Amino acid sequence: MKFETAIDNLELSRPDKESLMFLLDLKSKEDCERLYSKAYDMKAKYVGKKVFFRGIVEFSNLCEKNCYYCGLRRENKFVKRYKMTESQALRDAKWAFDNKFGSIVIQAGERTDKAFAKLIEKLILKIKEESNGKLGITLSLGEQEKDTYKRWFDAGAHRYLLRIESSNEDLYKTLHPSDHSFAKRIKSLETLSHLGYQLGSGVMIGLPGQTTEHLADDILFFRNMDFDMIGMGPFIIHKDTPLAEGFTNFEELKERQLELSLKMIAVSRILLKDVNIASTTALQALKPDGRELGLLAGANVIMPNITDIEFRPYYQLYENKPCINEGYGECNSCLKRRIEFLGETIGLNEWGDPIHFSRKMQSMKQRNS
Ligand code: SAH
Ligand code: SF4
Repeated sequence: MKFETAIDNLELSRPDKESLMFLLDLKSKEDCERLYSKAYDMKAKYVGKKVFFRGIVEFSNLCEKNCYYCGLRRENKFVKRYKMTESQALRDAKWAFDNKFGSIVIQAGERTDKAFAKLIEKLILKIKEESNGKLGITLSLGEQEKDTYKRWFDAGAHRYLLRIESSNEDLYKTLHPSDHSFAKRIKSLETLSHLGYQLGSGVMIGLPGQTTEHLADDILFFRNMDFDMIGMGPFIIHKDTPLAEGFTNFEELKERQLELSLKMIAVSRILLKDVNIASTTALQALKPDGRELGLLAGANVIMPNITDIEFRPYYQLYENKPCINEGYGECNSCLKRRIEFLGETIGLNEWGDPIHFSRKMQSMKQRNS
């Protein structure tokens, strides 16, 4: 297959698996650069050269789940567990608002008890009240009952991030114990979409046992599920988890993990066009300018960590998470400089909703009228 043919197929929204796999398998630096540059043009055309910030508040590291890859899994006894008070979380939200971030993400380990649902509901209402409804709120709080999702939506959250981790059920099962259900994950994504959330999902890239075909299928899955936002990143080991056991020298794999992640961003941008795509922190964990490379490969969202420094060391999903010792002010000014250096602008005081979502809503309205 030729590079141009594969690109044409995706650009014309003819997503045959062969083209996806061909592009994801590109090896030489020159070919990869061509791919990133095409994706960058598509980003400029469909969503513009503007980066939106979502400040992440790592609200709590308590987790009921036991995902094999994650440092916060409930059986990891080495983690000092914490949960923020409402005023601590509000302080972070206020910082984001004062610094002209259009929106924040509240993320935490999974908890499904009633007290947690109530706590988050109260927090959402309070953030809305204190920002005059101006600060956008995204949630990343795992699988919940429909009632809980609805309560949080009604309180004012408007986006939700829930990664499928891998769209291949067999691979999914190798990443999670048997009390995790792939079907429930899909159901949760459908529920969130029906409730009206702008919906984001994604996968980890470079997982043990993951093939190019799995990754191509993941991108087809994003398309079939009609996601508005894509947040994916490299899998990175955490030494106190079962999935780290198979690795003797992860350092040697870093370059490959990074390159594969950039190719996933680029191919997703070319096929999906007007969705928001995040350049995730995990890219920065592999290389200091990893997130800037993500922007150059087609991403248009960055999620700076705005968690208070006292909690950061305890929210280690994977090893070497960057900026754990820096206050958020320092991280923010250094990030702004780096983005401006790329010739992109930053969408301050804007929610930066995915164009894909607005288009979807528009066509739904037309169908119903
Ligand atoms: N508990 C929530 C939110 C926190 S975890 C949830 O699971 O949705 C957020 C994301 O961190 C997960 O979806 C997963 O993709 C990512 N993550 C966890 N461990 C990781 C690792 N070792 N490498 C890369 N990403 C990881
Ligand atoms: Fe918990 Fe999320 Fe980590 Fe799974 S990925 S162990 S649900 S924090």
